[in-house]
Amino acid sequence: MHILLMGPPGAGKGTQAANIVKEFEIPHISTGDMFRAAIKEGTELGKKAKACMDAGNLVPDEITVGIVRERLAKDDCKRGFILDGFPRTVDQADALTKILKEVGIELKCALNVNVPAADLVERAVGRRICKFCGATYHVKFNPSKKDGVCDMCGGELFQRADDTEETMKNRLSVYESSTRPLIEYYKNAGLYVEVDGRQEINKVYEDIVELLNK
Ligand code: ADP
Ligand code: ADP
Ligand code: ZN
Repeated sequence: MHILLMGPPGAGKGTQAANIVKEFEIPHISTGDMFRAAIKEGTELGKKAKACMDAGNLVPDEITVGIVRERLAKDDCKRGFILDGFPRTVDQADALTKILKEVGIELKCALNVNVPAADLVERAVGRRICKFCGATYHVKFNPSKKDGVCDMCGGELFQRADDTEETMKNRLSVYESSTRPLIEYYKNAGLYVEVDGRQEINKVYEDIVELLNK
């Protein structure tokens, strides 16, 4: 099962992807996670990505498409994947269409997690992530049992450098101009489905499972 997971920053893509990969046993491919890993390792890729990410801008298409092309060529993608946060521009979507043709993969759907802009700043600013295992929490909507500590592994929680009110304003405007057009793109391709991401995390997941089992 090959799925694209789309939606504005802070919509809940990562949260839902974590549930989907557990149940459907497919790899979770998040370009944001790949960039953050590269930054942590101090690679050339990380250096290039960091300035863009800190400002809330997109990493250039040629860099992003390159890492996705490499990743999708791996064997574990044959059975399925959940591609989270890619594509984010029409050019990336065109590149993806070509890559998938090359590797002989057909998408099941492009699943959009629909959340109005008014909710997204609060979601992002309250997001906390485990340094160790990557589990995602929210100070208000999905708090860890103990403040600042991961329920799963006891790791320390941190706040992403780009999860500020100010950076979110830019990320949301980039979303509107560069990424929202993908809704039409995947409608035209006959692949578009959506869930109401304003609901509670578990309810959103129930709706996703229903769509994926169709
Ligand atoms: P994305 O990957 O789309 O940027 P995340 O999955 O990291 O989004 O979620 C952003 C923040 O919102 C996190 O702190 C997460 O715990 C919280 N969140 C996710 N889904 C919901 C939801 N349905 N209702 C309220 N908060 C949510
Ligand atoms: P969110 O869904 O909350 O915006 P991500 O982890 O998906 O978070 O992305 C964080 C940042 O990584 C983005 O703001 C952007 O700078 C960069 N990034 C992630 N995916 C892409 C992509 N497909 N194209 C360009 N930049 C990307
Ligand atoms: Zn953890």
